[in-house]
Amino acid sequence: MERLLTHATVVTMNPDRDVLEDAAICIQDDRIRAIDTTEALLSQYPDAEVMDCRDRVIIPGMVNTHTHLFQTLLKGLGDDRVLKDWFCGMTGPSATQLLPEDCYAAALHGCVEAVKSGTTTLVDFMYAHPRGQLTEAVIKAFQDTGIRGIVARGYLTLGEEFGIPKPLIEPIDKALSDACDLIEKYNQPGARVQVGLAPCMIWSVDQDTLDKTRKLASDLKTLITIHISETPFEVENSMQRFGMRDLQYLQHIGFLGPDVLAVHCVYCESRDVRIMKRHDVKVSHNPCSNMYLASGFASIPEMLLGGVTVSLGCDGPASNNNSNMIHTLKFAALIHKGYHRDPTIITAEKVLEMATIDGARAIGLDHEIGSVEPGKKADLVVMKLDNVFINPVHAPVSSLVYSALGNEPEMVLVDGQVVMKDRQMVTVSEAEVMRESQKAADELAKRAGTERLKRRPWRSLPNYPADS
Ligand SMILES: [Zn+2]
Repeated sequence: MERLLTHATVVTMNPDRDVLEDAAICIQDDRIRAIDTTEALLSQYPDAEVMDCRDRVIIPGMVNTHTHLFQTLLKGLGDDRVLKDWFCGMTGPSATQLLPEDCYAAALHGCVEAVKSGTTTLVDFMYAHPRGQLTEAVIKAFQDTGIRGIVARGYLTLGEEFGIPKPLIEPIDKALSDACDLIEKYNQPGARVQVGLAPCMIWSVDQDTLDKTRKLASDLKTLITIHISETPFEVENSMQRFGMRDLQYLQHIGFLGPDVLAVHCVYCESRDVRIMKRHDVKVSHNPCSNMYLASGFASIPEMLLGGVTVSLGCDGPASNNNSNMIHTLKFAALIHKGYHRDPTIITAEKVLEMATIDGARAIGLDHEIGSVEPGKKADLVVMKLDNVFINPVHAPVSSLVYSALGNEPEMVLVDGQVVMKDRQMVTVSEAEVMRESQKAADELAKRAGTERLKRRPWRSLPNYPADS
């Protein structure tokens, strides 16, 4: 039977970027069947179940193209530290202690955060495999919450000399055989949760790993995602080993293609932007994380002008510290204005495109999601802009990017299924999810020896040594 969402303001993100007033959306099973005026659809589908969305704004579900959900258990443990200290003193030791139940609790919590703040598709970059079954735990969390996504099976095949803990380094054949099994099991046509490949970053893999990844992705038609030029070290390491910058090297070995989602790209130069455009490489921009870890300012305006598809990500909650895409919208708009001292360099509308239709394109799903159009999947966010922080509202897109805090989504549908209603998760118990993730976080901190980081001293001076 058809369902109608009526009397809504619909920000369609269709090719004309129509924003429709008093509009209705007809949903049949998992797809959008029609969009028209409320009057027209009510008379066309007199028997449909009607959900009145008066005073609501509907947008396509947002696409968060980069996170590491296991880090949900690490929120706040790595604050105010330089990257090496953040990784070697906290994230690395924690990752080596992960159990499947930790990954499940963390990912379940992260998926709930995502849904509650209007995200319907997530790309999880799952690089920590001190033991088996951890990717499966993340996949199960996606399935249980009802969110859509790609769980990218990550791997580090070298890098002990740079501080990567030994239990996180895997032989490539073992990692890819695990990835193959997962892809075979989960990547059925039309499946809501799929598996991709994620060589972690250039300095943690060798060419054999990259070549095998390229071949496997081409054979099995999966997404590849990789951290690129996040810090100067990545570029320097590539220059030292290969005599060229990381993106240049990836082009040189034939790794790049439209199925590559490059994460961060903070140190990319104009020639790198041209390489991305040439190979239709997609970018995941993570402004909160880039600020949190002081990585720097990615040349996003230049990439956009150069015709590169740029999407948005929250990055792992150890460097954010949440999975709220609505916060990311505001960061993405503001940091480029401030850096370039030009308020016109990026707009609220472009930022919302990056979070929806461009995010869908970045993971090869723009024919299915990313806009509210007939024939597409019914991945929808119904927002009630009724809180004191967002009110009064003049233009919904501006309100969403610049004023919203993240609790505006009232109802969320994925594949036509209601996963959140009246701001409450339908698929899982939010209270139980929080209880379990707090318990897992406490136990993980004990095992990883990071409990001392909870009792942080009051560090009010900017350059006070992190471990004092
Ligand atoms: Zn990352």
